[in-house]
This record gives sequence, C-alpha cells and structure tokens, in this order.
Amino acid sequence: MRIDEALRSARDALTASPTPRLDAELLLGRVLGRDRSYFYTWPEKQLDGDQQRLFELLVKRRAAGEPVAHLTGEREFYGRRFVVTAATLIPRPDTETLVEAALETLPDTPLRAVDLGTGTGAVGLSLALERPAWRVTLTDASAAALAVARDNAEALGATVSLLRGDWLEALAGPFDLIISNPPYVDPDDHHLEQGDVRHEPRSALAAHDRGLADLRVITAQARERLVEGGWLMLEHGHDQGSLVRRLLADHGFQDVTTRGDLGGNDRVTLG
Ligand code: GLN
Repeated sequence: MRIDEALRSARDALTASPTPRLDAELLLGRVLGRDRSYFYTWPEKQLDGDQQRLFELLVKRRAAGEPVAHLTGEREFYGRRFVVTAATLIPRPDTETLVEAALETLPDTPLRAVDLGTGTGAVGLSLALERPAWRVTLTDASAAALAVARDNAEALGATVSLLRGDWLEALAGPFDLIISNPPYVDPDDHHLEQGDVRHEPRSALAAHDRGLADLRVITAQARERLVEGGWLMLEHGHDQGSLVRRLLADHGFQDVTTRGDLGGNDRVTLG
C-alpha cells in the first residue's frame, strides 16, 4: 500500500476524532520513524507488510478512543517533543499560554522558579530550556509522573531539580516564580467522560469544590513562598477567570490579570 492510500483510508476510519488527518499522519510517522513532511515528499512510497499491519493496528486503537499521544508515546509542546505515558496529562497547546506569560513577565536573569504538578515536565522544562539562567524545580505528587519528567529532562538536556511532593509542601523556597497547571475540572463535568481525557489520570484533571480545591491550596501556600515582587501563575478553566482573580486578590496578590488561550478563553491568571 502507498503512503497516500494508507493515510486516506486511515482518515476515513478516524472520523470520530476531531482531527482525523493529523492523527493518521502522526501515527504513520511513528510507524515509519519519519516527520509528517516526509509523506508530502514521498506520497507514492510503499509500506511493507509489517509497517502496514502496525499502522492498521494503531489506527484501530485510535478509532476505539485511545489518545494519539499514548499510541506514539510523545507530544509536541512549545516546539519540543515530550515523552508521554498514561501516568501524566497530555500537554495541551493552551498551556503554552502559561509558558509565554512567564517568559514575558520575568527577566532573563538568575532566579528561582518551581513548576507544581509538572506531569511530563512540559511547563517547567520549557522554561528551563528557554531561560538557562533560571533555577527550575519540578514537583509532582506522582512518582510515575516524576519519572516521565526526569526522562524528558534528560532527553531534552535540561538541568532541573525534581522533587516528589504535594504542591509546595516539601519546598522551602523562596521562589521568584511559582507556576502550575493543576487539576481544575469539576468532577461532575461530563467533559471528563468524553474523548481523550477518559484515558488521562483523573488526579491530573479533576479537583473538588467545582475544580477550585487545588487552585485554592496552591494560592494559599504560594503567598508564604514567594519573594517580594514574585509571581504566581496558574492555569484554570475558561469559566474560572473571575473566581481565580478574586482568589489571588483575597490572598494579597497585586497586578492580577488573566490571559486568554488560543481560542480566546480565559486560561491563565497571574499576580
Ligand atoms: N484543559 C484540560 C481539559 O479541559 C484540563 C487540564 C487540567 O485540568 N489541568 O481537559
């Protein structure tokens, strides 16, 4: 079977996905060990029998609902490739807003930053690689997630400290930047029963108190662990902007603002 034929039939099998063509290309890329651009240069190239069987298997699993990132074992974030397993949240493009907020707000000088609930390490490692002068710590309550973050740090050549723990509990600080994409989805949100999120750790997605429980804990702890003039930056749900702004203001944070994600929704609040 030719590459273009394989992609076409996969796309037709993946109509339940919001991104059938992209999924097909990412899965074939994994099978052939090639970038997607290869398929446009060599559409007539033939797959051998093993390649075709493996591709069909991956397409079948994707059609049954498994996330592409679990099938390829990786996901791109802020221009870099991150290893992903079922132990972590799959990095989202919207979370790049969080990285950008930090890069634009803090100076390129030696300072201390911590990424809480780092998962794959996407946020903290992007910061460490974009700002080699920063001393970045990554924490996660999950040992399995922290192992993924460690693998990513090594593969990407980032120098960071990794620490297991609940939010800021195990950390002394003080920090110039505390940043986090914590769980913030309401446990009753039907969104948790649909699509890729069903395969992601619930502990990385859902929080009590209509999704606000962990945002509250982090904000309260951050107050005690920041230097004067330090920044707290939190990702949150599209409908939580005003609640999180009030939360930060109630804890004495100043210059509190919210930034939008790629879709223009409230996504990151900083103060
Ligand atoms: N934005 C993600 C979602 O809607 C949730 C990420 C998170 O809880 N930190 O699936």
